[in-house]
Amino acid sequence: MPKDTGLEKTQQTERQSRKQRPILLLGGTSEARRLAELLMREGYRVISSLAGVTSEPVLPKGEVRLGGFGGVDGMVEFIKAENVLAIADATHPFAAQITRNGFEAAKETDLPYVRVERKPWKPLGNERWTRVADVEAAVRALSKNARAFVAIGRKDLEKFAVRDDLSILARSIEEPDMDVPENWKFIQGRPPFSLEDEKTLMAQARVDTLVVKNSGGKAVSAKLQAARELNMRVIMIERPDLPDIRKVRKIEQVVQFLPKPV
Ligand code: NAP
Repeated sequence: MPKDTGLEKTQQTERQSRKQRPILLLGGTSEARRLAELLMREGYRVISSLAGVTSEPVLPKGEVRLGGFGGVDGMVEFIKAENVLAIADATHPFAAQITRNGFEAAKETDLPYVRVERKPWKPLGNERWTRVADVEAAVRALSKNARAFVAIGRKDLEKFAVRDDLSILARSIEEPDMDVPENWKFIQGRPPFSLEDEKTLMAQARVDTLVVKNSGGKAVSAKLQAARELNMRVIMIERPDLPDIRKVRKIEQVVQFLPKPV
């Protein structure tokens, strides 16, 4: 019998894995990329889903689909077409819509659903935090003539433009869709950032308040640490409410809630 060549083996493995029922991994975060690799090591076929909103997304290893599904119905259609085995949700804690949709789609298709959610940040000692429920409340909470560093992504930046007394230093991965007002400075940047760079940035711009979403995790906490060391006021936007879903803190805990690979 002729021996298999390396190429034939690869093709066989690919054919076999295509027959496997995939995990639909809702992503867009560094945890999601690490989870994709972990699940593949555990023998799962993984389809990572990204919203497709950043122009040069950092892609996870393995299969990837890009763009919205078209709501719950669209996701249900995708799940049925791909014969999805389970849904793993490692989206950002503030990406509430896709989590709600994923949870609903899992209910409709009777699939297991598990979400990885980073621990939220908590104030340490005598930190000056004002905790608010949403971006509108953060805008209202800023003192008159505040010099604020707003690092909350581009989507909600324009909500700060209703206050013309503010001097805003704004940073996001993509440019904002708005005309940046004269008393604002916009910088484009992708985390992680170093503590020293964050301190220098805030000190040079003479920032007195940090406005931040309670994303949690390590990757973006340098700005919080910088605010702490510069004894700055922090306006912390707390997480949106989510349905009562199964949550774990670590990607390693996901597998125990998934069916065996088939
Ligand atoms: P969102 O408000 O929860 O979702 C809005 C819509 O975008 C969803 O209804 C869905 O469209 C589509 N969508 C979002 N995430 C998707 C995904 N992973 N795969 C396919 N479609 C997705 O989401 P968002 O806050 O705009 O965040 C978008 C993405 O960026 C997420 O993947 C999230 O993990 C990542 N991210 C968000 C933040 C943040 O602060 N919000 C920070 C870092 C990374 P359809 O209804 O058409 O399916």
